[in-house]
Amino acid sequence: MSDAKPLFDKVALIGIGLIGSSIAHGIRRTKLAGHIAGYAHTPEILERARKVGFADSLYASPAECVGNADLVILAAPVGAFAEIAKEIAPSLKQGAILSDVGSVKTAVVRDIGPRVPKGVHFIPAHPIAGTEQSGPEAGFAELFDGRWCILTPPENADSAALEKLRAFWTRLGSRVEVMDAAHHDLVLAITSHVPHLIAYNIVGTADDLAAVTQSEVIKFSAGGFRDFTRIAASDPTMWRDVFLNNKDAVLEVLGRFSEDLSALQRAIRWGDGDALFNLFTRTRAIRRGIIDAGQDSAAPNFGRDPAHKS
Ligand code: NAP
Repeated sequence: MSDAKPLFDKVALIGIGLIGSSIAHGIRRTKLAGHIAGYAHTPEILERARKVGFADSLYASPAECVGNADLVILAAPVGAFAEIAKEIAPSLKQGAILSDVGSVKTAVVRDIGPRVPKGVHFIPAHPIAGTEQSGPEAGFAELFDGRWCILTPPENADSAALEKLRAFWTRLGSRVEVMDAAHHDLVLAITSHVPHLIAYNIVGTADDLAAVTQSEVIKFSAGGFRDFTRIAASDPTMWRDVFLNNKDAVLEVLGRFSEDLSALQRAIRWGDGDALFNLFTRTRAIRRGIIDAGQDSAAPNFGRDPAHKS
């Protein structure tokens, strides 16, 4: 894989936190591009990225960063995409592919689509891979290995550009699937966005409970609560933007979730053990399905080394 020729001469990463820096490490690992350029909006992040050393050039201006790039990937929080697209549009090279890694897709098409110059191929993407870490030190080349990357090309997308982006993500280690943006947003609402909201909520509720002091919550944190705190430690800016930009799908899934939660509440109130047992049996099978599909480890504690808290 690493002997293959570079797919792009220059890749520009607009945003170099967990995902942007992981893409850079992955590009280096597989020699996917001749040159990696990175943009960050603060001098502090630029300096931290320089120290890690995953980019060939670093810029404080997004327009300068994308100059002459044949692949541009927006990897900042999705709430910043409209402004970034406006700023870089005049500097995008004819024939370049413009993509992103945003966790929502309909809003990204809405915010970027109208600003894409003629002759630039806009193909949104979402790697379904991440950790609760953020920043330029958090990235690693293996992040995308065996993970899905969803592409949501507009109907009139250039097929050669789509295939090139598919090849890019495949060489980064991902499995690639193509779907429309609205379907992506509904699927991700149930598999990622609402679970994060539940984690934020339960950790917040535990923190608010007057009868349980914070030290007891931490001291006695059992597996269930501890796993929620890991998810609830995810980047606040990124997740604020996800919920503001996938409102419809999240509210739709939350409506269903609330109904199902009420049914569970009723089962507990009326001592309906069968209802509880049947649901828990069904959900256990789903966990087995995820492990069989290679999307998680069956090792105790998710295969994490407790000593390193990774
Ligand atoms: P991250 O580690 O927090 O990195 C985001 C970077 O963007 C930070 O360096 C941040 O700098 C910078 N940034 C903030 N506002 C910006 C702006 N206006 N212009 C340019 N850069 C800006 O977050 P991430 O996890 O890499 O997420 C980046 C994107 O990937 C998001 O769109 C997210 O939806 C998507 N994504 C995330 C995951 C995940 O699990 N984390 C998975 C798939 C996709 P400051 O820290 O200085 O603000």
